[in-house]
Amino acid sequence: MKEKITPHLQRKIRDGSNAIASQFQVQSTLGDNVTPNDPLGEETLFSPAKGIVHKYPNRVLWKTTYHCAAHCQFCTRIRQIGSPDGDLEDADIISALCYIQSHPEIDDVILSGGDPLVVPQTSMRIIAGLRNIPSVRVVRIGTRLPIHSPKSIGSPQVKMVFRELQACADNFQTYVLVHVNHPDELDYEVVDAIRTICAHSFPILSQTVFLKNVNDKEDVLEELFKKLYYMGVVPYYIYRCDYVKGLEQFVCDIVREREIMTTLHKRMSGIALPQYIIDVEGVGKIPVPLGFWDVPDITRCRDYQDKIVQL
Ligand SMILES: *Cc1c(COP(=O)(O)O)cnc(C)c1O
Ligand code: SF4
Repeated sequence: MKEKITPHLQRKIRDGSNAIASQFQVQSTLGDNVTPNDPLGEETLFSPAKGIVHKYPNRVLWKTTYHCAAHCQFCTRIRQIGSPDGDLEDADIISALCYIQSHPEIDDVILSGGDPLVVPQTSMRIIAGLRNIPSVRVVRIGTRLPIHSPKSIGSPQVKMVFRELQACADNFQTYVLVHVNHPDELDYEVVDAIRTICAHSFPILSQTVFLKNVNDKEDVLEELFKKLYYMGVVPYYIYRCDYVKGLEQFVCDIVREREIMTTLHKRMSGIALPQYIIDVEGVGKIPVPLGFWDVPDITRCRDYQDKIVQL
């Protein structure tokens, strides 16, 4: 994937953040000859209309674009990001809306990408369409723009999207899902940008990806989740990095990941703790059980001090 780094992130790299450098700088060109796969089967198995991934019965993921303000080198959609192929014409938006309308079991639509806030015009059309579908009760905006370019959150176009969502409050509930991986990402400008989103009174949740040598340490994740928790952002999911060709350098040891999450569960409030999830190829999201239970004997478990408890 081509390197694309915003001035905001460039500044942080210059100021010495290795965590930012490893996420955005191209480390080697070795991966250029491999064709990244589609581990989640988004195109082949579950796409009934351009941009739509319908894997779980009641919710759909809507890829509004393949553009992002910066390119995260570990992106699951490495094969698509930056390409104009994901641009949606009005006709694509209409067919996707028709699909959603004709499936009233869908009550939850996740605008993703790419980054829906990078294409505010497209997002506005989508939101206006969703407003007229009574079965849609939740719309989520998955974004990393506050991290990539916090100033952009204050731009007139992005503000317009948030105002439009606010105007839809009687039609559906909006949630904002911010993708954030390391405490270095949460500087005062980013915190300000997130506060601007909060001011629209949408609940804000966060999503994180386990990244080798970036955040695969108890202390780093504890600091990240606490910073989020202190500012009113609820950590929602932490994903195991998808096993996409070309991303091997980012994939952590699964046993270590589980150990980290188990330790954090002993240290922190449940509010500050995201669910640890693996998105299994061709299957879907599966929560990983932490180390409190001696499976398969589910009558015994361990408490936060590691003492055995007989139920
Ligand atoms: C992650 C995902 C969702 C949303 O899952 P939740 O558990 O509801 O957050 C929906 N559809 C697809 C295809 C996804 O990958
Ligand atoms: S913001 Fe999300 S979709 Fe865009 S490159 Fe980063 S991980 Fe991928």
